[in-house]
Amino acid sequence: MGYQVLARKYRPQRFADVAGQDHVTRTLLNALTQNRIAHGYIFSGHRGIGKTTIARIVAQALNCRNEIGTSARPTPEPCGVCDSCIEVRQGNAVDVIEIDAATNRGIDEIRELRDAARYSPARDRYKIYILDEAHQITDAAFNALLKTLEEPPAHVIFMMATTQPEDIPQTIRSRCQHFSFHAVKFDDILAQLRMIAGQEGVEAEDAALALLAEAGDGSMRDALSIMDQAIASAPVEEGRPVLSTVQIRELMGSVPNAIFERLLEAVAAGQSAALMQQLNLLVNAGHSPSSLARQMVRYLRNALMAKLGGEETELLQISGDERARAMRTALLFTEEELTRDLQIILRTFDDLNYRQEQRFHLELGLLKLIHAQRLLPLEELLSGVAGGGGLRSPAPASAPRASAGPPRPAATTPAITPTTPTYSPFGPGAGGWSSGPGMKQSSAASPVGELVRPAISTATQIAPESQAAAPKRVVTPFPAASSNGFGSAETVTEGALARATEAAPQVLGPPTVEALRHAIGSALVTAGHESASQLLGSGAWILDGATLRIEVAGMGKKMLSLTVNAAAEKIIRQELQRLGASPRFLVVPGTGTGQVEAAMMSVPVAGSIQEAALANPLVQRAREIFKAEVRSVVDLRRK
Ligand SMILES: [Zn+2]
Repeated sequence: MGYQVLARKYRPQRFADVAGQDHVTRTLLNALTQNRIAHGYIFSGHRGIGKTTIARIVAQALNCRNEIGTSARPTPEPCGVCDSCIEVRQGNAVDVIEIDAATNRGIDEIRELRDAARYSPARDRYKIYILDEAHQITDAAFNALLKTLEEPPAHVIFMMATTQPEDIPQTIRSRCQHFSFHAVKFDDILAQLRMIAGQEGVEAEDAALALLAEAGDGSMRDALSIMDQAIASAPVEEGRPVLSTVQIRELMGSVPNAIFERLLEAVAAGQSAALMQQLNLLVNAGHSPSSLARQMVRYLRNALMAKLGGEETELLQISGDERARAMRTALLFTEEELTRDLQIILRTFDDLNYRQEQRFHLELGLLKLIHAQRLLPLEELLSGVAGGGGLRSPAPASAPRASAGPPRPAATTPAITPTTPTYSPFGPGAGGWSSGPGMKQSSAASPVGELVRPAISTATQIAPESQAAAPKRVVTPFPAASSNGFGSAETVTEGALARATEAAPQVLGPPTVEALRHAIGSALVTAGHESASQLLGSGAWILDGATLRIEVAGMGKKMLSLTVNAAAEKIIRQELQRLGASPRFLVVPGTGTGQVEAAMMSVPVAGSIQEAALANPLVQRAREIFKAEVRSVVDLRRK
């Protein structure tokens, strides 16, 4: 006999030799022992895990001529030496018909099969049809088959092997016994490879066999066919082929996991340049970006599983050394980070399949890992822990977010959502207060401090446009993280007040501006445009000749026009005319006064739950960081 591939040469001939499918073989052995044979079987599961192998063993057992026990009973284990067993093994038994349904899937082939099934077996007890890739059979063909399955002749048995059992019609499935095969465990594959290496006289280090087993990825056949190739290309020493990890990696075009460990160490350390250099070496060495991404997905997945289940978890189907490596990488990251990194690389891998310039996409994906690294967990950000990292470096904390998606106007959401339907037309800076609804309860002293304190740091850190404009006017809308949390509030406040006073005359203009603010604000609220009211209330109102200019900070033109829409504009125009002012006005992005902030601080009734919540440093911090507002506070204890 000529050369036989390992998968065929070592195909199990007894149930006991089939690796990793004990749940299937046990049931089938029982059925054979008790002579409870069904007329239809479905064997489902991934490729190369023993479906057709088991179908053949069943066929041998059913038709073996050396029966153990009574002649009425099939044997649980075929003898393997009788004519029938040998013919089945060689694939030329008259009464065991193997059909590749991938190529014989049409109605004609199945009709032929069905008609032939009516006749008794030529020699053996059963006429057995093994349909491989059974899900490929067309619906019409399945219908033709259904008749036979509904009233099967006593001598006919169908065994369907499929990777997609869900594609087999329910009418067929319900008439079959369904066995779902498991992926073969790493250790089982490794043991089999060891045995075969011994039998074949192949010299192989265990790490090399582990690599093959891993590459098999749950499929014995895949592992064996890579082993075939490896043996064929192995150097021969003293008449024995020698398998090494280096040679097998070369064969599979894979990179040692040590490299991925290093890449992820660079990610953990935030070393973008080192990361790019390593990638450059890999690409120059001829590794394709998509193969690198695919291997990295696998590596990250293993690290994540190690994180979740520990080094010994069943979720890892890799060798002991690799488990240790996965664990080392896992310790560099949190579970969230690993999850996110895996997601980023998975997406990168996906993208690579459709893109030109694969290399750049992989580079981008890897850099994203580093940037994502800088995102802080919410709790950390709020509590200001983590060595103050979140507070000290607001820029890195927000930069990745911006890079992940289109840049977002800083104060978008908070500014449009009204805290309260009442309009609080606060003037900017000192003396700008007018009494309006909602103002009554706030004490004069605290709101000013509260109002201005957060205002300043923003101008310099977050909003560059505001910064440019800052010298001219009062500025500044929304708070950012001040350099050391609440401590610096006092000092900042003074600066802010000074600037506010200085700039006040320019901004406030004639007193009528305040009248306009109040009237327009109220009119908008009355007409149901609370968002617009709130937004404009937070802006700086300037009478520029006859034109009223409202500069709203932290919001792009587009968002502005969405909030202050045509209907709102109409109301503003009407209100201006009603007050005898020129109807010309402009709402433009610019610097505001941070009044949304102030409005919120003033609203709660003293001693209310809202006040308590707003006084909480964590809540204040969250509002600062996210430029958010507190819309409502629910006291769950009262329910
Ligand atoms: Zn036999």
